[in-house]
Amino acid sequence: MGEAGRQTGGARPGRGAAWRLAGLLALSVGARLVGCADTDGAVGEAALRHAAALCAERPGRVAGEGSVAAAEWIAARLPRAGTRVERFEGAPGSMANVWHCRVRRPVALLVSHFDTKAGVAGFVGANDGASTVGLLLALAAEGRLPVAYLFVDGEECRTAYSEGDGLHGSWQAARSGAVPRETPVIVLDMLGDAGFTPALAANGSPWLNGLLRRAAREVGVALGDAGDVIDDHLPFRAEGYRAADVIDFEYGPGNAWWHTAQDTPDKLSADSLARAAALVRRAVELLEKERE
Ligand SMILES: [Zn+2]
Repeated sequence: MGEAGRQTGGARPGRGAAWRLAGLLALSVGARLVGCADTDGAVGEAALRHAAALCAERPGRVAGEGSVAAAEWIAARLPRAGTRVERFEGAPGSMANVWHCRVRRPVALLVSHFDTKAGVAGFVGANDGASTVGLLLALAAEGRLPVAYLFVDGEECRTAYSEGDGLHGSWQAARSGAVPRETPVIVLDMLGDAGFTPALAANGSPWLNGLLRRAAREVGVALGDAGDVIDDHLPFRAEGYRAADVIDFEYGPGNAWWHTAQDTPDKLSADSLARAAALVRRAVELLEKERE
């Protein structure tokens, strides 16, 4: 994610082959919602295992410098049916997003970036990237939420967020129209910290922020206000989607572990990821009710 309170410009994603959810309709399994605390606990444990494995096996995931290999790593851990790797070109070089969807009409699009920040020695992005990759992998494996999943490359900027620097994968996805514009987009970032203090970006869509606040209340998660945040929800908002960003931007004393070699899996907690899973699950349930 990026520094709070700054505006981002538009990146120029490459023009890859158009990909549409419709192409996966034959794979629809008609998932149904089943939520319970035991389920979230198992998801949290699985998410932590995935996050630690990603950091161990693909520690460097810088856009254009190994990020495509990380995308392939993620795709290999998703259910094969409904999974697609979308390669594209941008300022940093070759990048790839990973999509997974097995439902006909996804109630929401859940998004996590997987790339790591360039130029930080020893940075593996355990909380910043891997934690929510693990969460989405665990939820996708569970297969109960009627949603689409998106793992985006190139979220991190090289120097400063601007047109052509950062948010590459989310610009690519938002502009592709792969998911219908009416699909709410929930971006999840840095939610594995053992000191769990999740918050909402103030520059998310008000309606979706309101729904997420209601979901958080109902599952007993205290959801703070992160202020304006530069993150992957912004390209989706710019392209006409309702999009929100759930982020825990208090990582270590004074956020000292953010974008440093200190961002390692030992700082993460399965319980935090389980609580994030509960929040997401309830939000999806509410979105499903709204659509009925
Ligand atoms: Zn970051």
